[in-house]
Amino acid sequence: MRTPLIAGNWKMHKDHRQATDLVRELDSLLADLEGVEVAVCPPFTALGEVSRLLEELSSRIVLGAQDVYPAKEGAFTGEISPGMLKALGVRYVIVGHSERREILGEDDDFIAAKVRAVMDEGMVPILCVGETLEEREDGRALSKVEGQLQKDLAPVRAEEISGLVVAYEPVWAIGTGRTATPDDAQEMNAFIRSWLAERYGEENASEVRILYGGSVKPDNAAELMAMPDIDGALVGGASLKATDFAAIARFRD
Ligand code: PEP
Repeated sequence: MRTPLIAGNWKMHKDHRQATDLVRELDSLLADLEGVEVAVCPPFTALGEVSRLLEELSSRIVLGAQDVYPAKEGAFTGEISPGMLKALGVRYVIVGHSERREILGEDDDFIAAKVRAVMDEGMVPILCVGETLEEREDGRALSKVEGQLQKDLAPVRAEEISGLVVAYEPVWAIGTGRTATPDDAQEMNAFIRSWLAERYGEENASEVRILYGGSVKPDNAAELMAMPDIDGALVGGASLKATDFAAIARFRD
């Protein structure tokens, strides 16, 4: 049984004060939620405050980060190590988000190193994969995602795979208001699971949570989550408003 994960990617929104306000509101809206894991991924500058607040509230919400640098320490100006995140109580780390691939030019080798570094620190990577609109229209969506999985998961061994989350995020659906249909998202998530099964074995693959991300909102969450291979959502814009994010996390209500 895979527990659904609803993770909020706040991107470059919310300073540390706004972040704690949002977490307080979310915590009270979600205090009685059972059977769904909820994570928030604030900017680095808010992680410390949010971590302390979650502890103070004995909250069920878990902490995630939006990125990491794949080295233990060193001369990497501006970067944050896996150990620094772990020390703040971070459990999930988003890796390979399309905005970092596209805007910051991150390639698959770098992303694979991040996946390894996050796992080595005992945290869980949320590996984002997905195709552009052009690739989808040319019929190359599956091959694009397969290529990303092959490279980004190269350093991951079969016995480690259950400690991984994959998020299918079609680039054309991120922040655009355009959502993949539940059938399209299911098709890709099932493809990802079958790829994992072929490489790591059926049993291991059946434990991996595969999320969908791309304009998830309160009014489309339930139909997406009803699909057999969609085990939760990575939510951008709608995670910035407590009532919307809580409604998504309560997709079963
Ligand atoms: C994201 O950036 O991971 C995302 C899914 O954004 P949005 O929900 O705004 O499309």
